Amino acid sequence: MFDWLVVGTGFAGSIIAERLASQRDEKVLVIDRRSHIGGNAFDRYDRAGILIHQYGPHIFHTNSKAVFDYLSQFTEWRPYQHRVLAEVDGMQVPIPINLTTVNRLYGLSLTSTELEGWLAARAETVEQIHTAEDVVVSTVGRELYEKFFHGYTKKQWGVEPSQLDKSVTARIPTRTNTDDRYFCDKYQFMPTAGYTRMFERILDHPNIEVMLDTDYQYVKSSSRFRRLIFTGPIDEFFGNRYGKLPYRSLSFKHVSLNKRRHQPVAVVNYPQTNDYTRVTEYKHLTGQEHPQTSITYEYPSDHGDPYYPVPRPESAELFKKYESLALATKDVWFVGRLATYRYYNMDQVAGQALATFRRIDEAIERPIRRMRVALHAELTA
Ligand code: FAD
Ligand code: UDP
Repeated sequence: MFDWLVVGTGFAGSIIAERLASQRDEKVLVIDRRSHIGGNAFDRYDRAGILIHQYGPHIFHTNSKAVFDYLSQFTEWRPYQHRVLAEVDGMQVPIPINLTTVNRLYGLSLTSTELEGWLAARAETVEQIHTAEDVVVSTVGRELYEKFFHGYTKKQWGVEPSQLDKSVTARIPTRTNTDDRYFCDKYQFMPTAGYTRMFERILDHPNIEVMLDTDYQYVKSSSRFRRLIFTGPIDEFFGNRYGKLPYRSLSFKHVSLNKRRHQPVAVVNYPQTNDYTRVTEYKHLTGQEHPQTSITYEYPSDHGDPYYPVPRPESAELFKKYESLALATKDVWFVGRLATYRYYNMDQVAGQALATFRRIDEAIERPIRRMRVALHAELTA
């Protein structure tokens, strides 16, 4: 008998399982339908012996000290500042758009102050910023939008940027200085021994049992658990009762090359050409020394595993219906990117999992039998 069944071994499921096991001394069964732990952050050594990310590049960045401190119990870190180039008009220039990007692309030598005026002269007036297109054209104007955002976004999401919520492109800032880092967060690191090793350590607790290759649908009628944490797609949990929520998928082409270096930075984006959106070379992220190198091409698709919730008004409305069902479902908690249908990064999912654990711990009394044992241990110490 388990106190909890946790569905999913990604950030959401693994962190909640660890908290329940270590802080409440409860017995937790964690399942995943995949044959590995770690969810989409899973990494592995490929045939060449290079550490790659099975589901595309995962770069850890956060401003949350609480999340960073929590994960630091389970991994050492390698400092890493992420830089991305976009291939535009036959050149590879930095994205987010910054002073270097504009000067290189247009053969100019503007200063930061001059760039502010240059952009202001091109920015379009948008009364109310609602869409992914609005955000960009109102900041850098239509020409740069077309070069960097329109094609990439259409390829990535399969719809026009004007059909997507502003939050999608608002992830990418515009800078008038020469800071070419993709992220500005306080903590930017990669787990030294990889994500999978970190997850092994999170799940390594005597109160936790892990079962892989196990889909929730085959265990849901079991009476071996009392409460449930679900981190898979919320619409699937409710049998798609109100219709399927839209998700965007990707297919990944992993390739090893007989050379040390393939590209100057970890990620190169292709907003104007090719069917793939970006190419990742992992050795930049991991710092691994190896005579060969491994890269991944990402091809967006409507079919396949659900990787991205699609932020647009119709899906938000449909999600609300499922959320109401979720709130009315006793003894089940929904956590993570697919279960709460939010375009969350790893650190946001980790923060959400820690917050959900705190709410559970406040709402449900800790099991008395274990409190007695703990008290006894304290008195006899
Ligand atoms: P997941 O990692 O999806 O884990 C859910 C798990 O539940 C899966 O393993 C799944 O198999 C399992 N599951 C689902 N349904 C069932 C079921 N019915 N029965 C059994 N098991 C089930 N974030 C960053 O911070 N930085 C990045 O650079 C970054 N890059 C990304 C790149 C790509 C291509 C993608 C797709 C995402 C990226 N992310 C990044 C986001 C990151 O992957 C997520 O925030 C995080 O992995 C979500 O964790 P999760 O536990 O919510 O979900
Ligand atoms: N984007 C773009 N061009 C780029 C980079 C990003 O149009 O060169 C847009 C695109 O819509 C993308 C979104 O910004 O989906 C968010 O980019 P991010 O790199 O954060 O995507 P993720 O890593 O989550 O796939």
